[in-house]
Amino acid sequence: MEEKQLISVKLAEKKISMLGAGIHNVTMEETMCAVDGFITAGGLHQIITLNAEILYQAQFNERLLSLINKADLVTPDGSGIVWGADYLGVPLKERVSGIDLLWEICRMAPEKGWRIYLLGAAPGIADKAAENLKMKYPGIAIAGVRNGYFDINNKEEIQNVLEDVQQAAADIIFIAMGAPRQEYFIEDYGKDLGVKIAIGVGGSFDVVAGAVKRAPVFMQKMGIEWLWRLLCQPSRWKRMLNLPRFVGLVKKTKKKQGL
Ligand code: UDP
Repeated sequence: MEEKQLISVKLAEKKISMLGAGIHNVTMEETMCAVDGFITAGGLHQIITLNAEILYQAQFNERLLSLINKADLVTPDGSGIVWGADYLGVPLKERVSGIDLLWEICRMAPEKGWRIYLLGAAPGIADKAAENLKMKYPGIAIAGVRNGYFDINNKEEIQNVLEDVQQAAADIIFIAMGAPRQEYFIEDYGKDLGVKIAIGVGGSFDVVAGAVKRAPVFMQKMGIEWLWRLLCQPSRWKRMLNLPRFVGLVKKTKKKQGL
């Protein structure tokens, strides 16, 4: 069996299903094995780090749900996902968030020789994130950097971005344009990027650049990182209403299943 098929068979064995979406029950270590395998196998692979907000949105958005189910690897990003899976009797081993995955891949990149491209966030942020990553992980090859404020409906601008990424010859691209915008971008243009792995990482560049502070570890451990994000960025309140809605939906699903 080809390397590519072998990885997908192994990952398929680790899949659970929640609210119509397949999620891989993987640890960070297993995720990193898959990353290594994807790069060796070649071709484009999409990784989605799924949180409860997006899974809730996907219930009413066919494109989004089908895109999640087509991804090569879907990791449980938030504590909401881990809670929901537990509640529905399909427990997940741990959270593998986009920001943690970004740090881990960048930590391994110098040794593995992986070339990284950072696409997304406001002008200057990805540059600062790249600078910080170079300081933290000496020898890391940042193949290219570009902000995420281009017109998604303008063919010329898109072509410009694609050419820039292709010329950089990166292995892995992190796209920090917010979910699901970044996932749609990968679905539409992933194959034109010339990378082996594309991962949407939401607001992670803001954290790596030091423009936004991540929740303290105790809050991450308590599963209330969402509260920190709400306190720091109160403008998120509207979209965060999807969290209690997600909880309600999970409870309703359990009742329906007579669990
Ligand atoms: N962003 C972007 N292009 C856009 C809109 C947003 O690059 O057209 C960036 C924005 O600057 C921020 C990130 O996308 O860095 C979105 O962060 P958010 O915390 O909303 O993402 P989430 O983690 O919730 O998906």
